Amino acid sequence: MSPVLILGGTTEARALAALCAARGIDAEVSLAGLVPGASYPLPVRTGGFGGTAGLARHLAGRGVRLLVDATHPFAAVMPGNAAQAAAAAGVHHAMLKRPPWLPGPGEHWQDLRDLAAAAAALPPGARAFLATGAGSLPAFSARTDCRLVLRQMTAPGELPPHVEPLVDRPGSREAETRLFRGLAITHLVAKNSGGPTRAKLDAARDLGLPVLMVSRPALPPGRLFVAPQAVLDWIEGLA
Ligand code: NAP
Repeated sequence: MSPVLILGGTTEARALAALCAARGIDAEVSLAGLVPGASYPLPVRTGGFGGTAGLARHLAGRGVRLLVDATHPFAAVMPGNAAQAAAAAGVHHAMLKRPPWLPGPGEHWQDLRDLAAAAAALPPGARAFLATGAGSLPAFSARTDCRLVLRQMTAPGELPPHVEPLVDRPGSREAETRLFRGLAITHLVAKNSGGPTRAKLDAARDLGLPVLMVSRPALPPGRLFVAPQAVLDWIEGLA
């Protein structure tokens, strides 16, 4: 049953696109277009739809039969829009989200509902490593009683005096351990994205650092898969 529309921007969306392409499934990928897109083996459209109504119009206009929300686990708006638009357009709907990380033995995690709660949970005088991206900074703006090291991929603009920039990518467990030790980090703040960048958490465990772990935004009710192959099986099962 096709056409299929995949809401992408993630490794999982690329993997699903590759599976669909290999099976000759008529599918299209949609990207928000905020950052230069990775290449996909399927046609790609770019840019927002204009909310739920716009997405529902797109689904109807293109004759889409299945909508797969494979956006990032921290995409807060699109999952709800996708579920509502699919219902409005009478389209099958599923979500593909990588599993969250779970704390292992010896890991000291505090789960926080959002970035503001994580910022509030830092003890005065903490020297925290923010692995939460540049967009997270406003939540920490009032914590001038702490020193914050903010890692981001690109050079930052002007930062407040209590924030030190670090332009770098996540590294191996050994590299992250060296980094945290060298910076005298006392707390790690992370978002529970799941996926391959767990080395920072292993490094925090090795150093006995507490982790303030920001939970994912809630998903709408619906069919949820964690593996691209399972989504492909579902698509082919509906054919
Ligand atoms: P969001 O808050 O859920 O979405 C904001 C708006 O961006 C949506 O309302 C929608 O605009 C548009 N949009 C989002 N995903 C889209 C897609 N795949 N195709 C077309 N339009 C899309 O999401 P976000 O956190 O801004 O993330 C934007 C994109 O970056 C997502 O595709 C996500 O997978 C990817 N991404 C996000 C993160 C993260 O940490 N949030 C990390 C890595 C990648 P309209 O309402 O106009 O349709």
